[in-house]
Amino acid sequence: MQDITLILLGAGSASRFKLPPKKQWLWSDNRPLWLQVANEFSKIENFADTIIVSSKDDIRVMSNFADYSFIEGGDSRQESLKNALKYVKTDFVLVSDIARCCLDIDMIRRVILAKKHNSCVVPTLNIVDTLYLKELPINREDVKIIQTPQLSCSKTLKKALDTDIEFTDDSSAIASENGEIIFVDGSTKAHKLTTVEDLDKLDCLKAPSKRALVGFGIDIHPFENNKKMYLCGVEIESPFGFKAHSDGDVAIHALIDALLGAGGLGDIGEFYPDTDIRYRGVDSKILLKDTVDRLNSIGYIIGNVDLSIIAETPKLLKYKKSMRFNLAKLLNIGANFVNIKATTAERLGAIGRKEGVAVEAIATLYYYDWTKR
Ligand code: MG
Repeated sequence: MQDITLILLGAGSASRFKLPPKKQWLWSDNRPLWLQVANEFSKIENFADTIIVSSKDDIRVMSNFADYSFIEGGDSRQESLKNALKYVKTDFVLVSDIARCCLDIDMIRRVILAKKHNSCVVPTLNIVDTLYLKELPINREDVKIIQTPQLSCSKTLKKALDTDIEFTDDSSAIASENGEIIFVDGSTKAHKLTTVEDLDKLDCLKAPSKRALVGFGIDIHPFENNKKMYLCGVEIESPFGFKAHSDGDVAIHALIDALLGAGGLGDIGEFYPDTDIRYRGVDSKILLKDTVDRLNSIGYIIGNVDLSIIAETPKLLKYKKSMRFNLAKLLNIGANFVNIKATTAERLGAIGRKEGVAVEAIATLYYYDWTKR
């Protein structure tokens, strides 16, 4: 019977993890870490639902990549868990951190098998070392290390968390409601990914695939009088600029679409909608920088980009070099990985009639190789 919901917590800022991608977004072969964890859990048990708790920004991307339920996290683990519990309809809930990424299947099965109404099942480890409390040795049989994932009675956990008390784990919350705590054997394999050094201990993570991801973008803007013209962030001498909600840098817009496309992120309108007042007259360089930061934070690095600017006017030859160097700087890659082509429309169509400019762009991305950090 499907009476368990899986909640995977991954909304933390992970400030102790010092790599360009967030730890949830280290790629293991062709999957980001959070997706590998969710998929591996689903092989163990047929959960009624899998709820992944993350930041609003991440959810926008995650929901393109997998058909799980995604819920926005709160300011603390407990707030995040409370948000997720609102959507739980099953009697039981299994809560794990995405950072606890290498699963011990046998241990998780032991946890699930022990489930009981008004209880919390907790995996524990015994202590093998001698323990002292201040000056005095204590009986190590009396002490246990508490692990996760823990399986709780949903109703009791919801009730327990409806308070200002900050609990360190689910079992202490359940205990506060006089629920039963059931201990099962834990596992020394269940490491948590907190710092970069932990990566050496996590044998379930594979090196990222070396595949190149290709994206394509196209944009077109008509001319508008008495406006400055920008292409690739470079100011172009011209009596007119581009009609647009933003500064109208049609080249950067096509490039952003190519980059988002390569990453599987959708398109520019989803991230910077022209109905949003924040982007009125915005410098497109800011949008490009934001796109690059976003891609880096989810484990992508930029390979190369290539742009074709189709313009009958203005003449762009003298700007091509500064466009290349400007984009290289914004993308944080060598100028040899940036190419700018300028062509005309041979007087055909709207571009040929000098009514505007169109740009086509292509970009490649790779997964950040955390094994060579
Ligand atoms: Mg545009």
